[in-house]
Amino acid sequence: MPELVDLHIHTNHSDGLQTPEDVINSGMRLGLKAISITDHDVVSGVIEAASYAEGKDIEVVSGIELSVSKAKDDIHLLGYFIDTLHEELVETLERFRRIRQERGRKMVERLAAIGVNIDYSKILASAGKAAIGRPHLAEALLNGGYVSNYNESFRKYLGLHGPVYVPKAKISPAEAISLLHRAGGIAVMAHPGLTNEDNMIEEMAAAGLDGIEIFHPTHNGTDRKRYRRLAEKLGLVCTGGSDSHNRKGRYGDIGDQKVPADYLAMMKNAWHERQKH
Ligand code: AMP
Ligand code: ZN
Ligand code: FE
Ligand code: FE
Repeated sequence: MPELVDLHIHTNHSDGLQTPEDVINSGMRLGLKAISITDHDVVSGVIEAASYAEGKDIEVVSGIELSVSKAKDDIHLLGYFIDTLHEELVETLERFRRIRQERGRKMVERLAAIGVNIDYSKILASAGKAAIGRPHLAEALLNGGYVSNYNESFRKYLGLHGPVYVPKAKISPAEAISLLHRAGGIAVMAHPGLTNEDNMIEEMAAAGLDGIEIFHPTHNGTDRKRYRRLAEKLGLVCTGGSDSHNRKGRYGDIGDQKVPADYLAMMKNAWHERQKH
């Protein structure tokens, strides 16, 4: 059995339900060599995980998942090996989280306008300091009996083309890529099969994209093959992970994706190359 890693995991610092400590414990139990926490717009989870993992037999790779916009509003970019104390990154993420809070309020107001009443103050109270995302609203819709399962919240209300969708902060793919580079990291196109904007990948590669996420619960074998070829053609590295949120929905569970540790080694090579520029 090759050594395995999981490089796409969310915690309760954004829209996941597991704590950073839970993630480390699960990773250790599964014998993973490394994990990366890639919360939306926040790095406190990965900082906490790294300190909890000190002296333990598991590597923590610092990560982040940013939302970037262009033609469509929800393209996700993963950053790896970022400096979690990088001032510009930290300030930008703070701004994104403030916008997320206001956006959540707007979506709750839009829901109320169509007769769907969920209590935003309760959502904020239970989310604590977490970066607010649509999964927090999806859970409230489910608890309020407005939908019969989590995914239905997105189909009926919260999805990109749903009646209450509000976009997030605007940052272009090129701006996000260069921010991740300035923060000492590499930039990876997340779950391209889900995003379905393949034509943008080449453009993003020209803007300095370093990798493509190949292993993801929404990718089948054909997707993986297609994106692996594209990565080879564009000279990008391949990455992968479960996108675990510890929620029921379209996510996997930690360790599901069986990503060999060799991929992490190749990402590190790309990162070292990037440092030379
Ligand atoms: P947000 O960051 O608030 O835009 O929410 C995005 C997150 O919501 C994604 O990372 C997923 O966790 C979840 N999500 C988005 N669309 C769907 C969907 N159609 N079904 C289930 N979860 C979704
Ligand atoms: Zn998420
Ligand atoms: Fe994503
Ligand atoms: Fe994710």
